[in-house]
Amino acid sequence: MGYIKGLKCRECGREYPVEPIYVCEFCFGPLEVAYDYNSISKAVSRKKIEKREKNLWRYRELLPIDGEPQVGLDSGFTPLLRADNLAKALGVDELYIKDDTVVHPTLSFKDRVVSIALTKAKEFGFDTVACASTGNLAHSVSAHGARAGFKRFIFIPASLEASKIIASLVYEPNLVAVDGNYDDVNRLCSEIANKYRWAFVNINIRPFYAEGSKTLGFEIIEQLGWKAPDNVVVPCASGSLLTKVWKSFKEFRDIGVIRELDTKVFAAQATGCSPITTAIKQGVDVIRPVKPSTIAKSLAIGNPADGYYATQVIKETGGYGEDVSDQEIIEAMKLLARTEGVFAETAGGVTLATAKKLIEAGRIKRNEVTVICITGNGLKTQEALHGHTAVPYYIKPNLASFEEVMKTIK
Ligand SMILES: *Cc1c(COP(=O)(O)O)cnc(C)c1O
Ligand SMILES: [Zn+2]
Repeated sequence: MGYIKGLKCRECGREYPVEPIYVCEFCFGPLEVAYDYNSISKAVSRKKIEKREKNLWRYRELLPIDGEPQVGLDSGFTPLLRADNLAKALGVDELYIKDDTVVHPTLSFKDRVVSIALTKAKEFGFDTVACASTGNLAHSVSAHGARAGFKRFIFIPASLEASKIIASLVYEPNLVAVDGNYDDVNRLCSEIANKYRWAFVNINIRPFYAEGSKTLGFEIIEQLGWKAPDNVVVPCASGSLLTKVWKSFKEFRDIGVIRELDTKVFAAQATGCSPITTAIKQGVDVIRPVKPSTIAKSLAIGNPADGYYATQVIKETGGYGEDVSDQEIIEAMKLLARTEGVFAETAGGVTLATAKKLIEAGRIKRNEVTVICITGNGLKTQEALHGHTAVPYYIKPNLASFEEVMKTIK
């Protein structure tokens, strides 16, 4: 058995049993998983974790399942790269890339949340899983759902990149392309979720799903040698990942796996969809919804469900938020590839470009330890780079033609 006590309203604190529900009946606040930390602190140690397989279930006591892990045995424990070349380019001493572009079967951090959501969907006895997606969640639910034997309904904005649509269709889900943006898709899905008895991973399974993001934070601490960084820069769509990275750091401290915690959490968004960072920069608590317009489509949520909670984490930790233009996103994608050999999707460009801005503004100190979360693979968003890279040297198949090229290369 697991260590879940139940669900708890984030606003009024009312408690609920472990069921596929997500809002408080009394105040409409979001529900969150509550754990028995006392028992967990007795059950978990660094040694015990280190002995386990290198996947995200090595932190299973802090994940909301009751039985054995059933999905995602191949996900998690992605590399934490020490990025010395990039550090030099940015003028900082110690910089790390948490590289979620690799290892995961569908090449983004969404395999973390989906592993937990689908394991929970099995525990609840659902035969169908569904999601509203900006792209990566569609891939992940389609793929993990196929392997786990679920019927799948996937809802996306029709405007998604062609390559992202193919990368969902290949797993043969029921893919529904909605004429509208993500926020329209999400609104429609809330209605559908009320009508059909499905496990909607980011609606009625959301309290469990969201906990999967903590594994990214647990890994950062373990891979830094059981230390929390001074700064962590996190890309925001709904804001959930950011709040859960911070929750994971606090949990490791609270159960005694680390002793000290003094991390500043920073939010990264695209200027074309920056409801969270705008609120932070204006110093207000109210998130004003926007109509997204950016190449960073996987972050294009104009009305972020966890936006308010993300701003609170940033305030609490002394972090900040910044947003960056599409041009800056592309430059950063190229910088990351050129310096560290990591090809990130547009969301990764957002995170790195934001980190660069925060360093230049002195918000991130050059002598501190900083981790940048790179959450998706560049092969997913190649369209964004069309016209922004060099072209090959075109030659005839003879040595003379090649030698002509060599004359031009310094
Ligand atoms: C979904 C996603 C995020 C973060 O999403 P949240 O809704 O804020 O948790 C970050 N990066 C990528 C690539 C994503 O697909
Ligand atoms: Zn409540």
